[in-house]
Amino acid sequence: MVSSSQPARVRFAPSPTGHLHLGGARTALYDYLLARQTGGQFILRIEDSDRRRFVPGAEEEIYASLRWLGIQWDEGPDVGGPYGPYRQSERKEIYQKYANELIDSGQAFTCFCTPERLEKVRNEQQKRKEPPHYDGTCRNLSANEVSERIAAGEQHVIRFKTPKEGTTTVTDLLRGDITVENRTLDDYILVRSDGLALYHLAAAVDDHLMNITHVIRGSEWLPTFPLHGLIHRALGWQEPEWVHLSVFLKPSGKGKMSKRESAELIKDGHSIFVKDLEGLGYLPEAVVNWIALMGWSYDDHTEIFTLPDLVEKFSLDKLNPSPAAINFTKFDHFNGLHIRALPLNELVRRMKPYFVEKGFQVDDATLLKIAPIIQERLQGMDDAPELAGFFFKPDVNPDVAELAIKDLTPAESADLAKKILAILESLPDVKLETAEPPMRKLVEQSGLKAGQVFGLMRIAITAQRVSPPLFESMEIIGKEKVVARMRRAVELLSAL
Ligand code: GLU
Repeated sequence: MVSSSQPARVRFAPSPTGHLHLGGARTALYDYLLARQTGGQFILRIEDSDRRRFVPGAEEEIYASLRWLGIQWDEGPDVGGPYGPYRQSERKEIYQKYANELIDSGQAFTCFCTPERLEKVRNEQQKRKEPPHYDGTCRNLSANEVSERIAAGEQHVIRFKTPKEGTTTVTDLLRGDITVENRTLDDYILVRSDGLALYHLAAAVDDHLMNITHVIRGSEWLPTFPLHGLIHRALGWQEPEWVHLSVFLKPSGKGKMSKRESAELIKDGHSIFVKDLEGLGYLPEAVVNWIALMGWSYDDHTEIFTLPDLVEKFSLDKLNPSPAAINFTKFDHFNGLHIRALPLNELVRRMKPYFVEKGFQVDDATLLKIAPIIQERLQGMDDAPELAGFFFKPDVNPDVAELAIKDLTPAESADLAKKILAILESLPDVKLETAEPPMRKLVEQSGLKAGQVFGLMRIAITAQRVSPPLFESMEIIGKEKVVARMRRAVELLSAL
């Protein structure tokens, strides 16, 4: 049983190398939940020490995506905090200090091997069918030789002096003890020739200095996890709790999603990048709910969770280390649940931008009337303008072929449309209770099916085959426009 009652200090440590994807968002969410639940802190640390992979704007996008999801951090580059700076590129000297400490204690060494030499070593290892590893050439250079060569300006890196004998055991909260033979571990580079620390050292130093209690991260770090344990131990530090989350697989469950496949998803209205999801009609609540359950469960039946629910119910011991296939059908399902759970005024606030984006001039009062009749019908928020745009158009443009009733001649359809128009004109208003009874009577008298008569009206008034309930819609549109649209239908049918 994992206890999470002590205030946790957790960090989300993205590299600003691309878009925030679902996997990263899930890590950040779990961090956030643990911090909030235990009264601890959630730290955002930007791991930008590899300047070659830096993507301008990526850091800002991470902020925006997390904020959209409702995941707010307590410490970070933009909000500051007592353990800053929170960008690794601003902490170079700190890492250098600990690299030197490791060298002084004989647990790291300066390596002068050139890339060409390393390449040759690798090729030979490959020929011998050995896994690639550093061959130890510089492991035991004398301190004098090292200083002389540095003084002479020779390029060098700093490597961890991984013990070559025995085993190392590290413990993951979900996976238990992981033991490796030390001879299988490489002398990993800690500091590159440009003086910048690599992840292995930088993250260890930061996690220690920032008092991180739980390192929650992706399982791509499992292979170098023993090294991370060793670095903490070499510096005499207590290790944090380690949690390696499950991997996300393609919807088919077969393998991880490639870059190209991720980019192509958008064609089907899906994406694994958080920045795309709002435009695709997803509510942040649905994203949070969905990703929370990709690798964690509460019980076997509760499926709808809000962020506050999750803060209350989340627990590390219910995390599941098995890979999880990304299931967009489930995502759409959660989106529907959360759309239906929105209070009407909130639904109005959230759908407005989708109308505006499509060029509609909308007002809150009308949206508030529409909200209850479309809430059940929205699969995504982006459906709103498509389903209800007709309320805001000055006039609509029905397809005359759709207006004409199947099984009737055009003249008969036109005749029916005229009768409908005459009734509508004669009514004092087109409220549901005023308009529905005479129309039902017309259906009876005509001997047609309700679907045929109301179908014609629906196309005439909305120019859509699918719309919110007809009479409720008419009431919102108002008599004047309803009559005008019906008159236009009569003209179109009469011209057939
Ligand atoms: N910068 C690392 C990454 O983006 C962070 C891993 C971690 O959370 O320690 O994968």
